[in-house]
Amino acid sequence: MLVAEDNPTNQKLVVLLLEQQGYQVVLAANGEEAVARSAEQPFDLILMDVQMPRLSGIEATVAIRERERGTGVHVPIVALTAHAMSGDRERCLAAGMDGYVAKPLRSNELFAAIDALLGPAGSPGTPATPEAAAPEAGPLDAASLLAGFGGNRTLLGEVIDMFLADTPRLLSEARGALERGDAAALAASAHALKGSLGLFAQTGGAYEAARSVELAARAGDLLGSAGRFPELEEAARQLSEEVQAIRRSLQEP
Ligand code: MN
Repeated sequence: MLVAEDNPTNQKLVVLLLEQQGYQVVLAANGEEAVARSAEQPFDLILMDVQMPRLSGIEATVAIRERERGTGVHVPIVALTAHAMSGDRERCLAAGMDGYVAKPLRSNELFAAIDALLGPAGSPGTPATPEAAAPEAGPLDAASLLAGFGGNRTLLGEVIDMFLADTPRLLSEARGALERGDAAALAASAHALKGSLGLFAQTGGAYEAARSVELAARAGDLLGSAGRFPELEEAARQLSEEVQAIRRSLQEP
């Protein structure tokens, strides 16, 4: 299976979830790599992040479908996308994708989308994971977060550790870019932050603040980005504390 995803924390999450189900995974860090990797070898399925540098998931899909034309080959492509972006689903399907999973990723939704295209796979005897519906906005709740990670404490713990290591680094990269007046670098850091924060709080203040900073930076509006930056730092700090508390609760017997 090919996974095209630019956010390191999301990469780790998807790879661990898939490997746990017995899939072999090849990673691509942007759309251009996805097109190249998929030309080198056949894949059962491609999981394609929509927002990626170089080529977006949409553009990469169009390129792959273009290449397949007349060959009779059609590799199933499942979009990974932020459901906050309305119209994404239609754009993905129009570009030639076959399925769609909203972020933050929940393992049951991911495997439902994969199984719909490939048929139930994974190791025989793997029990279906009973899970709650995706959590709504509000304070993080350890039980529903854990459910979203297929009940796997180790996996959730690893993703939290990555998140806690990445977030301060990304924040300081973003602040540096803001101080240099480098809108492109700021947009890239804010995009990465949005992906990481969105793992835990899609609708929370941290995700929204990262999204605003990214959008303003993309539009070259450094003042707009600067205006939302303190809120982003504060929300990221709060979310990190909540996540840290959940990390500790996972270690309790
Ligand atoms: Mn992305």
